[in-house]
Amino acid sequence: MNTQFETMKLSKEMMQALGILNYHKPTEVQQKVIPLILEGKNVIGKSQTGSGKTAAFGIPICEMVGWDENQMQALILEPTRELTVQVKQELFHIGRTKRLKVADLFGGFPIDKQIQTLKQKNHIGVGTPGRILDHIERGSLNLSKLKILVIDEADLMLDMGFLEDVERILESVDEAVQILLFSATIGDPLDAFIGRYLHKPERVWIESETESLSIIEQKLYEVNDAEDKYELFLQVLKQENPESAIIFCGTREMVNVLCRMLSRDQIQTGMIHGEIDQQDRIKTIENFRRKKFRFLICTDIAARGIDFEKLSHVFHYDFPTGKETYVHRTGRTGRKGNQGIAICFVTKADQKMRLMTEEFIGYQIPVCTLGETTNEMEKAFYRKQKEKPGFVEAKGAGYKDVILRLSISGGKKSKMRAQDIVGTICSIDGIDVLDIGMIDVRDSLTYVEIGNGKGSLVLDALQEKTIKGKLRKVQATKNMY
Ligand code: AMP
Repeated sequence: MNTQFETMKLSKEMMQALGILNYHKPTEVQQKVIPLILEGKNVIGKSQTGSGKTAAFGIPICEMVGWDENQMQALILEPTRELTVQVKQELFHIGRTKRLKVADLFGGFPIDKQIQTLKQKNHIGVGTPGRILDHIERGSLNLSKLKILVIDEADLMLDMGFLEDVERILESVDEAVQILLFSATIGDPLDAFIGRYLHKPERVWIESETESLSIIEQKLYEVNDAEDKYELFLQVLKQENPESAIIFCGTREMVNVLCRMLSRDQIQTGMIHGEIDQQDRIKTIENFRRKKFRFLICTDIAARGIDFEKLSHVFHYDFPTGKETYVHRTGRTGRKGNQGIAICFVTKADQKMRLMTEEFIGYQIPVCTLGETTNEMEKAFYRKQKEKPGFVEAKGAGYKDVILRLSISGGKKSKMRAQDIVGTICSIDGIDVLDIGMIDVRDSLTYVEIGNGKGSLVLDALQEKTIKGKLRKVQATKNMY
């Protein structure tokens, strides 16, 4: 097994990207899966979020995709928009040194804009099955050069009823396309699907979350009445005083209600569920990930697969309605050797599911009784509420030393083309085409990345050089993505 990236025969650009992202050693799933994908095998990976699964397919995909080819060469299917965004970001960072363009394709976003994006150079696409199928049927997504197709979180695709759309997508791609399927669990319906669509797949099984739950401290509070639950939860929250926590609720309504009640008690939270505007959900996830606030309240589907590093607590405010859900939720904490605590609240109505869950995980969750919330605890809790949690840099922040992203006034509306930008920048002394990274022409603005530490040189020169006959407003942008 390749326990180092160095022995995987990856290109110089890929090794550079992994260094910038601080991926120094492959995770278990990466050690097993990357060589198989590079050999062109169809692969089934049974592994969880947090195992480094995205990079396990992202690294070989970015390695195998050629920059010169303008058509999409890899397509990744995701069950939710949030996962689409997360996976797109990861691939963007991994492929950045190769200047790979990654398009996201999900519903709830104007299709016309996506059609425009698809007319430009795109190497990799990530999206939800419904929207991708829509593009295929409209003829706006050209898959004639597709080499690899990934079906990610396949069990969730099945649960959400997307498998039929996935089948239709598979039927519209060439038989020679390499297929990779990742799933946390693989039951009979998925097995039947695999038998139909994946020719001679290699199977890679990574330790299940049930086994890894043992490092998480789990606690259970019994509550007589659903009405008493909030007060009990509030006291437990104050006593635990978490660094950061995800609080799972059973319904969207409950997420709204709990958010309002906590806000009334001067506790700041963020929330995500299916009815919240998609841009807001994405912003909330990013802000929580960057530790701008401590508590995130959500439903299961909205949070599925989303990876948060160093989460100290998980609360099952509403007890899960499926035994696997307990395992998925609880496993959000205690990642990468960090300590984690998971706390659940069980009403009389939840008792049956509690027993099923305990049978599934193979032990009883220790029962706790609430002690007194002392004045000191209360004060410490609200003191922490006022402190800003430790700020975490955005993923890929390491790129800022190597790549500078410039914004240039003028875009599609004034007929700006990538060639116009390349022409001017290459005429600057000391710059050649290999220093120019991704170019993104928007409606009235164009972004261009300058690599090899030559960003400031280009920025200075463009204050005095014309592009398409005009002096443009050129600025360095902070936005890495
Ligand atoms: P995933 O399972 O794909 O959601 O990834 C979990 C987290 O691990 C993400 O934040 C990745 O950026 C990070 N990650 C992936 N591969 C590595 C690696 N080899 N070393 C360190 N972190 C990694």
